[in-house]
Amino acid sequence: MLEDSHYYFQKAADVLNLPGRLREILWIPIRTVKVDLVIDDDDGKLQHYQGYRVQHNKARGPMKGGLRYHPDMDEDHAAALANLMTWKTAIVDIPFGGAKGGINCDPLTMSENELNKVTRRFVEQTKEIIGPTIDIPAPDVNTNPKIMGWIMDEYSKYAGFSPAVVTGKPLELFGSEGRDEATGRGVMVVLDEALKDRGKSWQDVRVAVHGFGNVGSNAARLIAQQGAKIVAVADHLGGVSNDEGLDVEALGLWVAEHRSVKGFPGGAAFNGPEVIMWDTDVLIPAALENAITEDNVDEVRADIIIEGANGPTTPVAHEVLVKRGVLVVPDILANAGGVTVSYFEWAQNIQQFRWKKERVDEELTHKMRKAYAAVRDVAEKENIDMRIAAFVLGIRRVGKAATSRSYIPEKIKL
Ligand code: NAD
Repeated sequence: MLEDSHYYFQKAADVLNLPGRLREILWIPIRTVKVDLVIDDDDGKLQHYQGYRVQHNKARGPMKGGLRYHPDMDEDHAAALANLMTWKTAIVDIPFGGAKGGINCDPLTMSENELNKVTRRFVEQTKEIIGPTIDIPAPDVNTNPKIMGWIMDEYSKYAGFSPAVVTGKPLELFGSEGRDEATGRGVMVVLDEALKDRGKSWQDVRVAVHGFGNVGSNAARLIAQQGAKIVAVADHLGGVSNDEGLDVEALGLWVAEHRSVKGFPGGAAFNGPEVIMWDTDVLIPAALENAITEDNVDEVRADIIIEGANGPTTPVAHEVLVKRGVLVVPDILANAGGVTVSYFEWAQNIQQFRWKKERVDEELTHKMRKAYAAVRDVAEKENIDMRIAAFVLGIRRVGKAATSRSYIPEKIKL
């Protein structure tokens, strides 16, 4: 995955004529930490997990990025995702750098007690390198508000009351209105912009969604509210389709109870991976990376793709889609709604002042539309696709901050 990010980084750096030394400074993470997390499991057996935190760049502010709990989590994933966070925070113009981390555990097979222990061990081992003005974690795959609340509680034991150390917390524990659905809402807003660009209206479009967790379910619900039809949804266990449009609210209730869309009675079952090739206008990959690859890209039928997930498209597939004229709104723009409302949450925590949901939604919508327009402007001006344009915008803003902070003789084409 790191290789994929590097490919896009280099392409954008070429557009910017970025000198070699500056490429190195902007590419290499400033700190990579790996910690051993030992807990007694519920059977009294000793279990070891590896925890990671990669802090990529802090030129534009404290570092920010999610925590992922997944058996595949490793240094490469953390580094690639941290890198994306640096450009993402710059694209939506919030005062943060980029970081990412996680633990190589499988929450689906762990009890809440074990998850609580492993989370607290992680904080204990990383407390010197996280903090409200240093690095602020947030939810990602398989982590949620409850886990963020444990992080705040554990960190506050060492540092005193510190709600701003982590975002995505429960509302009753200094979380923000609208944070839970923020990434999905951002996806809906950029889709609105993309539809305008393609001269389509909400009523015209059929949408397929890959992944029905935080991002996929909220995006599907908000998109259905605009009047589009969600015709196919898939997750790690299977898919469900309905040509007339799935009842997304009912599907959400089903998943809350059964932990998968599989078996939902309001549609027909299909083999999950087929959702990528579904006959729709819009495809929203919102699961994990490498969903659209050289193996299936020729069969992708949607002509708008909004990347809710991080890194869902491989570089080979990306080139094919660009050549075919598919409008791909890239992850570092499309899923930036989450980190944007995380920023609002952090600001509320620091001020000890709570915003109403209407304000959160309005400011999020404004930020997403502005970022979309800025990326599209770069794409048009440089005659490049939206993904490379997003990288160009992000690298340019971070590069400007980095070169203004210290003496770096290289100049960036601005
Ligand atoms: P989540 O854990 O809430 O949900 C993940 C979903 O993906 C689940 O429905 C799961 O069943 C599905 N899934 C997992 N493996 C799959 C597979 N092999 N095939 C099909 N489906 C599969 O996670 P999330 O927070 O919704 O994150 C999803 C993606 O969005 C990730 O790439 C994440 O990095 C990115 N993202 C999340 C946020 C956020 O605020 N949560 C913000 C930005 C980006």
